[in-house]
Amino acid sequence: RDRALAMAVSRAFAAGAAAIDAEVDDLGRLDSIAGDGDHGIGMQRGITAAASAAALSVRHSKGLAGTLDAAGRAWAEKAGGTSGALWGLGLRTAAAHLSRCDDATEADIATAVAAGIAAIREKGGARVGDKTMVDAAAPFAKALAARGGDRSAAWLAAAGAASRGAAETARLGARTGRARAHGDKGIGHPDPGAVSFALLANVAVTTLLP
Ligand code: ADP
Ligand code: MG
Ligand code: MG
Repeated sequence: RDRALAMAVSRAFAAGAAAIDAEVDDLGRLDSIAGDGDHGIGMQRGITAAASAAALSVRHSKGLAGTLDAAGRAWAEKAGGTSGALWGLGLRTAAAHLSRCDDATEADIATAVAAGIAAIREKGGARVGDKTMVDAAAPFAKALAARGGDRSAAWLAAAGAASRGAAETARLGARTGRARAHGDKGIGHPDPGAVSFALLANVAVTTLLP
């Protein structure tokens, strides 16, 4: 089962990389409105490296936690930039959580994802409403933590919450990160890191659901 999960995660990284490839120019344009324009290329470098590292780990029978850790390392190393460091940290934090579970249940996976997102919030120091990836990641984690009912429904609700959170950043001016220096220039446009988070959350959920 651990091997099946590692393979599923590896497929999700490959699907995520393909989704980012399709959006690389749009993400770059969004980042150039109030940032330095490299978000598309940074995400592409990061997730492509993560997908290769995940595939290699599966071939070396690393299991779920080892696969996620290798992907997070590769992402942070190859992406550069704020978002790359935060994605790498989030993945490696989730991996550390899973490495302590013998046979990860769905609840363990949800808790690991929440721990990864909590680490991103802590490290970056951004709050909800600061117009960052946290505006998509926090509602994702919150919806995932909802108890009871069907787990697939919780994952789908979480992906929807990430999309809404990303869309809502269009109303906001940036208060943190590189974009802060550009004040309110980004108003009317969503935050690139929130948009890419929501995109990957949706790809991951649709790829991983049975
Ligand atoms: P850089 O800003 O170093 O060029 P990217 O362009 O790849 O890195 O990523 C920019 C994204 O990173 C922003 O759109 C925002 O979502 C996210 N971000 C920036 N600063 C923070 C922070 N302190 N906490 C969380 N996310 C952040
Ligand atoms: Mg940038
Ligand atoms: Mg940059």
